[in-house]
Amino acid sequence: MATAEEKVNLPRISVIVPCWNEAEVLPLFYQAMAREMSQRPDLEWELLLVDDGSTDGTLSQFRDLRRMDKRVRYASFSRNFGKEAAVLCGLRMATGDFLAFVDADLQHPPALLGQMYDILRDDPDTDVVGARRVDRAGESPVRSFLARGFYGVVNRLSDLSVPQGATDFRLMRRRVAEAILSLPEHSRFTKGLFALVGFPTRWLEYENVNRAAGESKWSLRALLQYSLDGICALSLKPLRFAFFSAALLGLGALALFICALCIPGSRGGLALGGLVCLVGALLLGNMGIQSQYLGKIYQEVKARPLYFVRETSEERPQ
Ligand code: UDP
Ligand code: MG
Repeated sequence: MATAEEKVNLPRISVIVPCWNEAEVLPLFYQAMAREMSQRPDLEWELLLVDDGSTDGTLSQFRDLRRMDKRVRYASFSRNFGKEAAVLCGLRMATGDFLAFVDADLQHPPALLGQMYDILRDDPDTDVVGARRVDRAGESPVRSFLARGFYGVVNRLSDLSVPQGATDFRLMRRRVAEAILSLPEHSRFTKGLFALVGFPTRWLEYENVNRAAGESKWSLRALLQYSLDGICALSLKPLRFAFFSAALLGLGALALFICALCIPGSRGGLALGGLVCLVGALLLGNMGIQSQYLGKIYQEVKARPLYFVRETSEERPQ
């Protein structure tokens, strides 16, 4: 049996859970997590629940859980700010030596958390253990295709590597969390931020699990927007496309101009018409890319808080 003094010094895991309308699954999640952690007398844990503007009673469940179990701490946002804002709030609240991101829907099996901790405990040369899905069973083919394409594009465009199937489910040492917290950017694409700060990472592979209850919060549109944000946050290469397309266009225009001069009749006219369309499309395309970055700069310059807390179990809002 651990003495009282030893118990004070047990390593603590902060489990950070972003929740948006997860009332249906939250009791199951809490039970599963509490069951798992009860098998680890070598650890202390706290559960940091962040309500991202839910409208389905998620917050009142937080209050009930807090009343029942003081290891539960929570914050509730004034509206939906997005998962990235919710995990940031959790990071700021966490007091643990190890910090974990876990989704509320049980798609991230709590049983893996113990294994992740064992790896970090036994291997001082690893700072992060992440979960990587080896399949996408249960996911729509369109979504799987887009997700694969997204990782391909991100890895090609940026110098960072986000492995295929990497999830946000990870356990990290405090120093990694401090590094993530020190990043000032407002556009926060968590997987990219992990790649950016570095730190030796190991991956635990697991088979995809379907949601225990409730629905996925990501529409195809939201996912596309998220992907675009991720690419812009990690890479400036799309901006270089303007130079390449300008060079290409210059050469094309020269060739067509020569053709138009040499070929009498309508063929030259058609070629010129085609060229005008091409120029228009490429100019607009490039303006689109630049506007995307300009918008991001505008957001960063305004430096607005990423979320507002409406209620919290803490004395001072985070
Ligand atoms: N989530 C959130 N805010 C959002 C979207 C999602 O806090 O705007 C939470 C959600 O409650 C869940 C996690 O992020 O705990 C993952 O969301 P979801 O399961 O819908 O994503 P998927 O697994 O389908 O990618
Ligand atoms: Mg999910």
